[in-house]
Amino acid sequence: MQSGCSKCGKPSIYLRRYTSELLCGSCLVQTTIDRVRRTINRHKMFYENDRIAVAISGGKDSAVLLHLLQQIESTFSNSEIIPVTIDEGIQGYRNKALDSAKILTQRLDLNLEIYSFKDLFRYSLDEIVARKPANSVGACSYCGVLRRRALNTAAQDLGASVIAIGHNLDDEAQTILMNLLRGDSARIARTNVPRDKAIDGFVPRVKPIAELSERDIVAYAHHLELPYHDEPCPYAETAYRNDVRAFLNDMEYKRPGTLLATLRSAETIVDAFRDTMDEWKIGSCEQCGNPSPSRICKTCEMLDTIRS
Ligand code: SF4
Ligand SMILES: [Zn+2]
Ligand SMILES: [Zn+2]
Repeated sequence: MQSGCSKCGKPSIYLRRYTSELLCGSCLVQTTIDRVRRTINRHKMFYENDRIAVAISGGKDSAVLLHLLQQIESTFSNSEIIPVTIDEGIQGYRNKALDSAKILTQRLDLNLEIYSFKDLFRYSLDEIVARKPANSVGACSYCGVLRRRALNTAAQDLGASVIAIGHNLDDEAQTILMNLLRGDSARIARTNVPRDKAIDGFVPRVKPIAELSERDIVAYAHHLELPYHDEPCPYAETAYRNDVRAFLNDMEYKRPGTLLATLRSAETIVDAFRDTMDEWKIGSCEQCGNPSPSRICKTCEMLDTIRS
């Protein structure tokens, strides 16, 4: 790109399409920080003296999330950042991602906490895949449910007051549209409970980079040379998501701002459910004691299928 930065006139390295801004490296970094700070404030994601468990996968999104949070949090509160990785136990994939996560946290002078499926649930994901019944749900369904539990357990164990997750704008818009296409708008509300409505027993989850596009994140990570792992998981079941991604990317290209508009629509849905959230009080799982809307929680239900 040859033209000058829209902010300062220096040579630009990036075109942010949805704002039509050409940006130099330092303005890319600064506007990204400003954008994330606005998202954090808009949703009141963090409080003074927070212990923030930052979910680190080793991929680019969580690398950028951690880098941004370290800068943002150091300037305005007494909060503490604790990077946490859940090691699902996926040979040849998670171990490489873990290496990237370790290099990143060392570079940022942070201590990486690692919790594994094997320690928490007795089985690695590879073992679960080998043992699960042939007609059961796929690896990602097991992985998603167990990782959510693992992260909550890890955050409680570390005394964290909030969990920050690195879902980007593209991921979020895809998930929102997939839920709508399946006729499940209530799920949009259930998976985006605002921090002040968090249910007892669940450490609140926030998504500070939900307004950063994947392009923004790649540009930021490359400019700062953040280490990250970029290979797909061998179990990834992405057919449906890929269709939705292709559609949204096409729309975003033709009409920049589509992804953000999708996110805003979801916020309206979450708001509409807001008054009912206080009634979402749930009981405890009879087997593990964790909060659960049913007698046996999803985690125990899934683990039971592989023990038998
Ligand atoms: S692609 Fe599926 S199995 Fe692999 S890490 Fe993601 S959720 Fe887990
Ligand atoms: Zn500039
Ligand atoms: Zn349970």
